[in-house]
Amino acid sequence: MKNLALHWKILIGMVLGVLFGMGMTQWDSSTTPEIHEGVKFVNDWIAPIGTIFINLLKLIAIPLILASLIKGIADLGDITKFSQIGGRTIGIYLITTIIAVSIGLTVVNVIQPGADISQETLDKLISAHNNDASAVANVNKKMATAQSQKGSGPLAFVVDIVPNNIFKATTDNGKMLQVIFFALFFGISLLLIDREKSVYVKGFFDGLNEVILKMVDLIMIIAPYAVFALLAGVIVSAGDPEILVELIKYSFTVLLGLLSMIVFYMTLVYFFTGRSPIGFIKALIPAQLVAFSTSSSAATLPVTMERVEEHIGVEKEVTAFVCPVGATVNMDGTSLYQAVAAVFICLALKHDLSFADQLTIIATATLASIGSAAVPGAGMVMLVVVLETIGLPQEKLAIGLALIFAVDRPLDMCRTVVNVTGDATVAMLVGKSVGKLGPPRVKDWDDNLDAII
Ligand code: ASP
Repeated sequence: MKNLALHWKILIGMVLGVLFGMGMTQWDSSTTPEIHEGVKFVNDWIAPIGTIFINLLKLIAIPLILASLIKGIADLGDITKFSQIGGRTIGIYLITTIIAVSIGLTVVNVIQPGADISQETLDKLISAHNNDASAVANVNKKMATAQSQKGSGPLAFVVDIVPNNIFKATTDNGKMLQVIFFALFFGISLLLIDREKSVYVKGFFDGLNEVILKMVDLIMIIAPYAVFALLAGVIVSAGDPEILVELIKYSFTVLLGLLSMIVFYMTLVYFFTGRSPIGFIKALIPAQLVAFSTSSSAATLPVTMERVEEHIGVEKEVTAFVCPVGATVNMDGTSLYQAVAAVFICLALKHDLSFADQLTIIATATLASIGSAAVPGAGMVMLVVVLETIGLPQEKLAIGLALIFAVDRPLDMCRTVVNVTGDATVAMLVGKSVGKLGPPRVKDWDDNLDAII
């Protein structure tokens, strides 16, 4: 076990977590029907280990962004390099997101999930939803969150990036863009002062960055146990399997789209960097598995950065900017899912979609994914905005969300993997384009770096 690569250990943890969770759902000797002993045991004694792991990763996210971004910019030496990195990053992020939505629309229009749902099944689902108080509450909560996010003015997003108090900003992981803004501002100012005055500040952030990367290594030691706990927790709180069957075609469509995105990233890596796409995925697997288990790109960020920097070889100057910005605004998996889910809901609820509506989906899903928070379930909240923009009436909207609710968590796990892989791909492309893609510090695979697959 000791010599096994990290991703194998994590995979074993995941499989055992699923089996354990399934076993626990079968164990119930309690006489009170409201209490399921197996589920309670997992929730009380196992799931907290996963929560501790997610907390540890979130704990170091803000210091990691501050240290690596400030040091990264200061190391660039001049501002033109930075504007090059910044411009390319945002440009490529936008292009990959639009491609993701287009792939989503293509697969959903070809497969047409939901089109065959009969009125009878639909009625059954509607009444099951209306009789399930917790499902109604869940859907209402998502719709209310979407309304509050949508209610602000057109420039609110930009205003929100500029913090008025850096200490306040660093106390909230949801304010990552504000911390990035401060770090950029600080780093650029550091570039502009005398070298002899900046040298200690730079040295401090450099050392801090190393310490935090070491913390990621240490946290990853418990990753196999943590993913065991996270997956056992997911299994015991899974939805009704009967509805799951109804949704298999929809889930398959989303998964096919997500898989196409991974192939697309691998192709980009091969053509634009000349590196082995298999090597790229191998180096990234631990981050992908953490993304899968936590359903949060924000929680996975420290692992993504460590993998991209140490195991892929993108220099800190690029990783420090591209990865945190990507975790917040680049969600290709989420945008693809939003496109598929929007069309699926319309097909299932017999709401006609014109070609113009499909174009609207491209624009809104792109923006909605940028606005989605990097936390579990956020993509579904912003899906409300997409559905409203294409004119789905409120009553249908609630039923539509209820319809996909049961499978949202597993799909969230998969789309988060794509979100994280997209960030790493763009980091590689930008790194290559500005001459900051070198050999990795840690090599995970035996084939020649420049070899074709
Ligand atoms: N869970 C996703 C992420 O953190 C966002 C979403 O699609 O819900 O990247």
